[in-house]
Amino acid sequence: MKFRIGHGYDIHRLVAGRPLVLGGVKFDTDYGLDGHSDADCLTHAICDALLGAAGLPDIGHFFPNTDPAYRNIDSQLLLQRVVAEITQLGFNLSNIDATVIAEKPKIYPHLAAMKAALAQSTGLLPDEIGLKATTNEGVGDLGRGLAIAAHAVALLSRS
Ligand code: MG
Repeated sequence: MKFRIGHGYDIHRLVAGRPLVLGGVKFDTDYGLDGHSDADCLTHAICDALLGAAGLPDIGHFFPNTDPAYRNIDSQLLLQRVVAEITQLGFNLSNIDATVIAEKPKIYPHLAAMKAALAQSTGLLPDEIGLKATTNEGVGDLGRGLAIAAHAVALLSRS
């Protein structure tokens, strides 16, 4: 059995009048993340971690933000496509671990729902998905609440 680790990072600006979607869960806010798709930076970081572990190009290669087909698309569909891609190469998903960096809103109450949505998209069990949220302690643009970022790592195995 060979193991492959991958890392992903993403950041999107917070703007007024967009829905906020993180880890496939829609938040009840009057602001959201700017982007071509639903701008779910957590799911994008996870996609890149999975693609990176498989040695594949990044999410922008598979789903270009110039392609109208991906305008406002639910990023869970992108994640499902990524999982199909790596599964086709013979990889098994072992686990994912991710951290969301957000000054607002409070993420913690939604972590279980986010895990459930990500489990649904990846075929992992909820306890195979680590999910944490932290603030940036007021430091920099993340700390001023101008953006939300996410880091993720993923482990794949292949025999
Ligand atoms: Mg993104």
